[in-house]
Amino acid sequence: MFKYNKENIFSKILDGEIPNNTIYENEYVLAFEDINPQSPVHALLIPKGEYTSMSDFSENASDKEILFFIRAISKITKIKDINETGFRIIANSGPDSLQEVPHLHFHIVGGRKLGSILP
Ligand code: AMP
Repeated sequence: MFKYNKENIFSKILDGEIPNNTIYENEYVLAFEDINPQSPVHALLIPKGEYTSMSDFSENASDKEILFFIRAISKITKIKDINETGFRIIANSGPDSLQEVPHLHFHIVGGRKLGSILP
């Protein structure tokens, strides 16, 4: 398990030190365009709280943080117009998943046929 490190890039995005292309935001979450999209739609959804991974969030986030995080998904898929066509959510969590940025993020990808879950 990572220890939360404020130097991670998503923390800097939340602090406004690094720009982002915002899709949706509220008190608890921020969603923005992935800088290196893997599909026509590739959004990243992050909580504003300091959670390193899905594992950390699942164990330690408040009910309200979890509720707002999950509720944000359909806001984003509607804004990006993939609610009907379909999408996939990926949350890399920890070393085996090759998680790069140690601040929880959901990848929300769609806009094309996505193929099998694991390559
Ligand atoms: P993961 O490997 O699951 O940790 O994914 C990290 C994701 O963050 C990758 O898809 C990157 O393209 C994306 N990423 C890294 N830096 C930025 C940034 N400054 N703005 C938007 N997306 C980023």
